[in-house]
Amino acid sequence: MKSLLFLATGMIALCAPPLSMVTFAQPLLTQSPGFYRVQLGSFTVTALSDGTLGISHAKLLHGGSQAEIDQTYRNAGVDDNHRETSINAFLIDTGSKRILVDAGAGDLFGACCGHVPEMLAAAGYDVNSIDTILLTHVHGDHSGGITGKGKRVFPNATLYLAKDELNYWMSDEAKAKAKASHQAMFVTGRAALAPYLAADRVQTFTAGAEIFPGIRTIATPGHTPGHIQYEFTSAGHTMLFIGDIIHVAEVQLPTPAITIDYDANEAEAAKTRIETLAMLARTHEIVAVPHISFPGLGHIYKQGDGYAWAPVPYAAHVVQVGQ
Ligand SMILES: [Zn+2]
Repeated sequence: MKSLLFLATGMIALCAPPLSMVTFAQPLLTQSPGFYRVQLGSFTVTALSDGTLGISHAKLLHGGSQAEIDQTYRNAGVDDNHRETSINAFLIDTGSKRILVDAGAGDLFGACCGHVPEMLAAAGYDVNSIDTILLTHVHGDHSGGITGKGKRVFPNATLYLAKDELNYWMSDEAKAKAKASHQAMFVTGRAALAPYLAADRVQTFTAGAEIFPGIRTIATPGHTPGHIQYEFTSAGHTMLFIGDIIHVAEVQLPTPAITIDYDANEAEAAKTRIETLAMLARTHEIVAVPHISFPGLGHIYKQGDGYAWAPVPYAAHVVQVGQ
């Protein structure tokens, strides 16, 4: 028996081509689908990766010394020239409503991004089943994904945003006063909103309103004039969808006064960030963040003169959060 086995393996060895001649099928150089679910009371929250965008922040960050910024990147093991930034959107399934908070970039940034519809499908959700979209603000990496080729990507959804936010992006006067680097944002923002406005599918609100039971809106101006945070509460569990309070966690958590060129009003954005981080360190509320590495779910805590990020521990099953 033993000699037969040797004979058999010897024959395989003789018949097998030398390793140098073997060609393997190339693995697909992609990642697994980017969705991650947690439970918030009776709501299921699914973080959706729209993709990641390689951005060099060196010239975009304002208010800190370049040496200081370089050092914080080095501390985080990040080469600024190859810094990938997550674009995260979030689906909240309340059982009776399917609510998307932001919708990614659509086709604005090319193949890197615009993957929210694929990730929804991978997570078992049809785009036609989304009934509500809440925008934190109208920048392209949040609103670009609501529209594709001039048509609504979510044909059965009503779009909600703050009245101040809609007014700002539709105002020619605001456009004329905006930074040169912000001019294109008005073009892409208006294009994203257009088919929803045409279909009478846009609802505005004043910050502070509870737009649905358990969903509170909070004014957080600066990054844009009508920037909104959405706080969801279910069965005593609370999560805050904080929008663009943080763009570069490695830099802006230890030094929250550092702003980014994308801010419409940088001084006001810094003030809002400082206030929000102080509040979150106090409440230790779980937050959902568009531009902290996917899934962008975690807690802010005080560290030294600034703050730090504690991501939720990865769970291979769906766990309750937000106690
Ligand atoms: Zn953004």
